[in-house]
Amino acid sequence: MRVRIYPLALGKMLKHALDDLNREVAGLLVGKYLKKGDVLEIWDAITGEQKSTPGFVYLEEETIGAAAEWVLRNRPGLYIVGWYHSHPGFDVFLSAIDIETQKLYQRLFPKAVALVLDPVKYAKTRRLQDLNFKVFRISQKNEVIMVPVSIGIQRQKLLESTLRGIETMELKYIGGGTSREPPEYVEADLDIPADKLTGPLSNLLKKIRDKVGSRT
Ligand SMILES: [Zn+2]
Repeated sequence: MRVRIYPLALGKMLKHALDDLNREVAGLLVGKYLKKGDVLEIWDAITGEQKSTPGFVYLEEETIGAAAEWVLRNRPGLYIVGWYHSHPGFDVFLSAIDIETQKLYQRLFPKAVALVLDPVKYAKTRRLQDLNFKVFRISQKNEVIMVPVSIGIQRQKLLESTLRGIETMELKYIGGGTSREPPEYVEADLDIPADKLTGPLSNLLKKIRDKVGSRT
């Protein structure tokens, strides 16, 4: 599998990480999986309530649940395709906790990826070559594998992802006002039927919280 990330999504993650260089930040990746070419496209990045320290972060179960519902309602054809978090000043890799978290995301969405970025060097230089981020998955053999990444340049998708991404620019804290009604329209271009996502999701998210939370 390969990952194609559209620029605004990357920019939003970077900005989030740059805004808080003293601790880890985290959020969710919004995009779609294309069977043709085995490509996962990342169109947007959203975030919400999180617990974090200089070396640890996780998203609240309610935030992930609310975000998943929001995406189903408001972004037909797109889904949460993974998560991102920052490692300010300690390079990009998956820690033991990150591996457990990623396994749960992959159980929720088999093509899910983990994007990790370290913004510290870029914060000093603002040079593209110092932009340090990588995308990971866990293989069937339980090994961490790096997923090749390219930047999306297809004109129509570039414009579309930018327009959608700008709308969620201020949508930093999802939740609270999110409606619980089922989505009116969901495009079935993902492997998992949308109606299967809401039920097991909360259990799964609870597991993420319990598992990750128990190590603090
Ligand atoms: Zn980490």
